[in-house]
Amino acid sequence: MTQSAATPEPSGPENRYDVVLIGAGIMSTTLGSLLTELEPNWSIGLFEQLDGAGQESSDPWNNAGTGHAALCELNYTPRGKDGSISTAKAQGINEQFHVSRQLWSHWVDNGTLGDPRTFINSLPHISFVWGDENAQYLKDRYEAMKAEPLFSHIQHTEDHDTIGSWAPLLTGGREPSQRVAASKFHDGTDVDFGTQSRQLAAHLQQAGADIRYGHQVTGLSRGSDGRWVITVKNTATGKKLKASARFVFVGGGGGALSLLQASGIKEIAGFGGFPVSGKFLRTTDDAVAGQHHAKVYGLASVGAPPMSVPHLDTRFVEGRRSLMFGPYAGFAPNFMKSGSFLDLPLSVRPHNIGTQLGVAKDNRDLVTYLLKEVTKSQRKKMEELYRFFPNAADDSWEMITAGQRVQVMKRNEEGKAVLQFGTELVSSADGSIAGLLGASPGASTAPSIMLRLLERCFGGLVDTWKPKLEAMVPSYGRLLNEEPQLLEELSASTAKTLRLDG
Ligand SMILES: Cc1cc2nc3c(=O)[nH]c(=O)nc-3n(C[C@H](O)[C@H](O)[C@H](O)COP(=O)(O)OP(=O)(O)OC[C@H]3O[C@@H](n4cnc5c(N)ncnc54)[C@H](O)[C@@H]3O)c2cc1C
Repeated sequence: MTQSAATPEPSGPENRYDVVLIGAGIMSTTLGSLLTELEPNWSIGLFEQLDGAGQESSDPWNNAGTGHAALCELNYTPRGKDGSISTAKAQGINEQFHVSRQLWSHWVDNGTLGDPRTFINSLPHISFVWGDENAQYLKDRYEAMKAEPLFSHIQHTEDHDTIGSWAPLLTGGREPSQRVAASKFHDGTDVDFGTQSRQLAAHLQQAGADIRYGHQVTGLSRGSDGRWVITVKNTATGKKLKASARFVFVGGGGGALSLLQASGIKEIAGFGGFPVSGKFLRTTDDAVAGQHHAKVYGLASVGAPPMSVPHLDTRFVEGRRSLMFGPYAGFAPNFMKSGSFLDLPLSVRPHNIGTQLGVAKDNRDLVTYLLKEVTKSQRKKMEELYRFFPNAADDSWEMITAGQRVQVMKRNEEGKAVLQFGTELVSSADGSIAGLLGASPGASTAPSIMLRLLERCFGGLVDTWKPKLEAMVPSYGRLLNEEPQLLEELSASTAKTLRLDG
């Protein structure tokens, strides 16, 4: 965007802003907090349809709270056709999580975020598999990861007793002759992105942002002066207001696709969304939860999408420990938990119907998987838990409904319709509007995604901002895997600030 640090425009009765953020999830609140620090004089308006921040996908019970650093998620280290294990994707995600740790540390230091224990907790990340083929895969993955500085501290074992000392619930009641394998990183995390969103939103408000909860954005159009005109409805009174901005971020989560479509930018053409809902089994029984202190990720079953990888997770929410297992996939056509059954049908447009049909034709496995998941009995769901935790008692667990993931459907570079499991930043050619589609690895990498947005939409200003960006994220623009000394220093300093060291 050819933005200059022009005279700030006043916010107030006429609702003119430099920047409007739509939604108060982790993405918008991260971007708003970055911009407030980079350009303290810019006026920021934020409209959120719910009555507070971080209540949709970013709410701790609507996601799994894993600080995705690619330490235990096996879908980030696939075996290639030549039999070798690729760590490229895992490296990329781990680098991004280091950026998150640095930015969050900076915000703890300067008071933007509160006590780190309120939103991040140290928790070993473990990968766990059984059977010969899977155990061999995990061994090969261990060798491949150990060679990279980012992952050189990985531990690995096939010994039942050692695994039992890492996570006793995995081995109690398990057949001793079963071949099992586990890899462990001691420096994983559990993150409460809802609390983080609320702390960032509160700080934004203190810094002067005009935050309006209970306000739903119903329209987006381009004014004759080139500014974006945002139509907003007060959800309590039904009263409408107009706002305008030089830059708009559509951080609407599952609501982003329809808002970007409403903006009419040509870059959204061809994109569609496919909702998959998540459910988890949860226990708050201290006698069970107290025996497990880890996030343990397994392998997805054949044909299942990556977000269905089963995991047994310790969670810390509002100071309380619990244990969660899942996810079980479900299907509902709404794009947000608070959305409507019409979200999916209304998202179908002439420009994306070909993409949707192409994806439906090429993803029969996914459709079959979803059908099986939706019709799975409670007994079958418990059987999946027993494979991880053989001694689980049925009556300690309740099923909770988590959030909706809207997977991106788009045309790839060869023009083929594809279903994508990552996130996609969509922006207009002039950089005056951008939005985020998709889910994974999502919240954990919000700082990197928002830094990428700044480079894409405010390219002309990034050089001026560089000293500030480097103060916020000391490794900004560098790869820690290539600088082991810096990696060690930053891992230690962020662990100290975020209180992850004990
Ligand atoms: C089951 C599940 C498990 C997950 N597990 C993990 C995990 O372990 N680790 C991880 O890092 N990520 C995880 N994710 C992904 C993560 O939750 C998301 O990437 C992240 O929360 C998205 O943040 P957001 O700000 O884009 O969206 P949200 O948090 O959904 O915020 C969007 C906000 O926009 C508001 N909004 C929408 N439309 C409008 C409108 N028209 N007007 C005004 N406001 C509007 C909504 O009310 C909402 O508050 C998971 C997601 C799911 C569903």
